[in-house]
Amino acid sequence: MQITSDTIKKKYNYIIVGAGIVGMTVLSELLKIGKKDILIVESGTMLSSQPYPSDKKVYSKKYIIKQNSQFSGVGGGSNVWGSLNAIFEKELVDKYYNSKNFPLKYSQYLKYIKKTKNYGFPDISEFQHNQTDEDVLKVKKFVQVTPNIRFFNFSSVLENENVDFIQNCYAEKIIKTESNKKLAFTVKNDFHEIYGEKIILCANTIENYKLLRKSSININHKILGEGFMNHPKGVVGSLKNNKKFKKYISKSLKNRITYLGIQQKDSSYNHYLNINKGFKIPIIYYVSQRLLGSLESYKGILPFSINLFMKKYVILILYYLIRIFEKIIDRINYDHVYLELYNEVKFNRNNKITYHKENNKVYVNYELGDGELNAAKDLINMFENKFNCKIKFKPKSKKTLKKLTSLDASHHMGGVKCGYFKENSVIDLDLSVHGEKDIFICGGAIFPFSGVANPTMSYVALAIWLVENKLK
Ligand SMILES: Cc1cc2nc3c(=O)[nH]c(=O)nc-3n(C[C@H](O)[C@H](O)[C@H](O)COP(=O)(O)OP(=O)(O)OC[C@H]3O[C@@H](n4cnc5c(N)ncnc54)[C@H](O)[C@@H]3O)c2cc1C
Repeated sequence: MQITSDTIKKKYNYIIVGAGIVGMTVLSELLKIGKKDILIVESGTMLSSQPYPSDKKVYSKKYIIKQNSQFSGVGGGSNVWGSLNAIFEKELVDKYYNSKNFPLKYSQYLKYIKKTKNYGFPDISEFQHNQTDEDVLKVKKFVQVTPNIRFFNFSSVLENENVDFIQNCYAEKIIKTESNKKLAFTVKNDFHEIYGEKIILCANTIENYKLLRKSSININHKILGEGFMNHPKGVVGSLKNNKKFKKYISKSLKNRITYLGIQQKDSSYNHYLNINKGFKIPIIYYVSQRLLGSLESYKGILPFSINLFMKKYVILILYYLIRIFEKIIDRINYDHVYLELYNEVKFNRNNKITYHKENNKVYVNYELGDGELNAAKDLINMFENKFNCKIKFKPKSKKTLKKLTSLDASHHMGGVKCGYFKENSVIDLDLSVHGEKDIFICGGAIFPFSGVANPTMSYVALAIWLVENKLK
């Protein structure tokens, strides 16, 4: 039930940080197996009136990260997300399982993916397709649930008698005492410390990283933050529509929208091309998305100076002029389709999340490397050869390709590396911190791969696995 900091107990069996998608799943699954005495803390509110507090902003040094990529409130990102889903490739999951960097092998992963149906995710059979084997290309199926899955709808679990829930409660760090672990948090600037037998961090990739970095526990600080991944994308050209493309373009049926992404068969990268109806010039699309991003960053900020006020309206006008131009060229070229490229970012130690104590801010530093860019070029060339077509406005250099496909998709992953070996990972295969058996991390941060699957369904699968196998 909902409590205040005045009525909080001194100690709980389980403390969950974050009532987002993963936190709500962990809570529901704990209750399912009869667990009691659970505290769940959430920095937002039931119906967050201030969805993007400044402390949740992500500052990025290379690629721009969406200003609103971390929703604060019960239900977390599902309040704003698109409910698009896909599952990770067998090769990817098994590769990291075999190298002891991921706790599940593919067959186990699928077992728990099946269980996500209870939370409204598609049935596993929906990801199958009849696309026959082609010589150079392969396809990946994406399934969007409509209307979107909202984890806010499960909020009745917060009212359970075995649950204490505090909103507007910001977890700051974990403090280790001689015999136990304490979670330190603030509620309306008041500082509190509560003991937890088991503490499960479900605060989203970047916030989980920040909490661990600030905590006074045994942790491999050298590795913490390494291997941040995202899902940068962008438009790479337009071309005449052809009936061959029909099977790849998105389709709506009942409460599903599905499409087939096109991948290169023998590539070690899972980048994919998505064919969409319409006509787009990549550079114009890129500029309009960047302007839209700049407008997002003004959300909620009062134009306190005439300069800021002017800047905002200049951007707004520019944005709408470009949108009108885009609509006109789209009408003229009604018989075209455009190609969107989704990049896979591989685990790379140089792509990092860092914490800056002096301003209490988290920075992200990541970009596509040469391997990723070469694979993207190969995929585009394969597409042209396979379909015997010429892509208009195709990026000529790797530099342009890098820029055009750097738009953020908000799938923050990595940074809290999972692994059997303590020397080169932060958490073990139980998802608990090496040497701190009762502190668990669940969600995107622990993934050593990002693939190109919209990952939330897999986070939920992992949360169910964690409770059933490690939190019993
Ligand atoms: C615009 C957008 C569209 C997206 N579309 C898709 C999609 O189509 N498909 C897909 O698979 N994924 C999508 N995603 C990604 C998806 O939203 C995330 O993968 C998902 O939200 C992660 O779930 P989570 O529970 O780990 O984190 P969240 O849902 O972000 O929940 C974390 C919760 O923890 C709380 N919290 C954070 N820090 C603290 C703290 N210190 N103390 C207390 N509480 C804290 C937050 O307030 C939040 O409520 C999208 C994301 C965005 C932004």
